[in-house]
Amino acid sequence: MNLTAKFYRIFRKNIQAVTLSALRALIIAFCFFSTKPLYAETKVILLGIDSADWKALGHFINKGKASNFKTFIKRGTRAHVNPEDNKDAPVNWTTVATGFKSEKHDIQFLNYYDSAEQRATPYLSTQRKKPAFWNILTENGITTGIVGWPVSWPAEAVNGFFVSAYEYFDDETGDMFPRAFYVNGDQMFYPLTLKSTLENIAHLQEMKYKDNIRMITQASVSKSERSPIKTTLWDFLTDDINQKIGQELYQEIKPRVLAVYLEGLHRIGHNLLSEEEDTRREHMEIYEDVLGNYYSYLDGILGEYIQLADEETTIIVVSDRGLNQRGQHTADGIFIIAGPAIKRDAKSFFTISLDDIAPTILYLMGVSVSADMDGRVFRFAFKREYLAAHPVETVETFKEYVPLASPAKKPVARKDIVERTKILEQVEN
Ligand SMILES: [Zn+2]
Repeated sequence: MNLTAKFYRIFRKNIQAVTLSALRALIIAFCFFSTKPLYAETKVILLGIDSADWKALGHFINKGKASNFKTFIKRGTRAHVNPEDNKDAPVNWTTVATGFKSEKHDIQFLNYYDSAEQRATPYLSTQRKKPAFWNILTENGITTGIVGWPVSWPAEAVNGFFVSAYEYFDDETGDMFPRAFYVNGDQMFYPLTLKSTLENIAHLQEMKYKDNIRMITQASVSKSERSPIKTTLWDFLTDDINQKIGQELYQEIKPRVLAVYLEGLHRIGHNLLSEEEDTRREHMEIYEDVLGNYYSYLDGILGEYIQLADEETTIIVVSDRGLNQRGQHTADGIFIIAGPAIKRDAKSFFTISLDDIAPTILYLMGVSVSADMDGRVFRFAFKREYLAAHPVETVETFKEYVPLASPAKKPVARKDIVERTKILEQVEN
């Protein structure tokens, strides 16, 4: 072999190697960009805590009952919830979910009057006129898990999982505070394959509840026949099941957006304090520090969810309005957000409207918001460089939203639901 041929061979071999490695780099780059778009790692955990109140939270932080909240606030940005949003829970939380005000999403009151049944009854998810963020995210191929959200029955088919809430309590059979999804559980959750997992979680929390309820009040309460105290147990158990479902399914199914709603603070706050003076004194004796204990319980849950979050996760805690230590609603609802794109600005207090939350979640997930939404992306919370690198993308309007057909069969609505509703109505008025 002459020198030229040898040189040519080495040259060709090198060229091949260079070409191959360039090709390999290209393939890697292509795979990286095609399977790992900009927002692929972004995740959101949203905890909706009905009626959490800045003043009450501050009080219990000072008493050392909410250390996770204390640290969490320092990590992020916070706001008061716009007092104009102070309506009933189903209205507020549908506003949170859709980014539209109640005139547009059409869940306007605590209940609606069902003329066929001739009584007030909880709204159905099929009555909502606007898409929730989970519908938009599903359309964009983003996985979502929703647990216990108000006005969420029948369950919606999301890309992920959906566990409904429908006010339901079996007094007649003596069953211990059953969740509707395993009693006449039509359309209580999605997908149907979750049935045994959900039953197991609920059953486990029920087994533990006599111990767990000591976290918020004395065990002797369970012997009481007085209805506000009885419902306290139900309210606590509902939260305890929902928070657990959220945690378990988050780890199992790994949705990129998780939203869990907890109502216990709201209901228990009312039960405790908005009664006649004598009854109130009696309840105070039995309950002792129930409100502070409940903040402490919720603080523990927040801590557990923080543990589940990786560094790409933004955590949002929001209430729809406040509730003071006398059991009355205030205009002092909380909003706290912390995550990689969020400023550390615990000193400022902004104001957020409930309809800003859905667009903010969509923005975080790299999904366009619609110009006709009432809410806007909550820019105050974001780092300036993040906003500059990620302009808010807007479409004129979302494609027409078609709710599920109304189901023929509701969960069997029994008189206890009506009674519970009455209790709540008296308190609200
Ligand atoms: Zn209330």
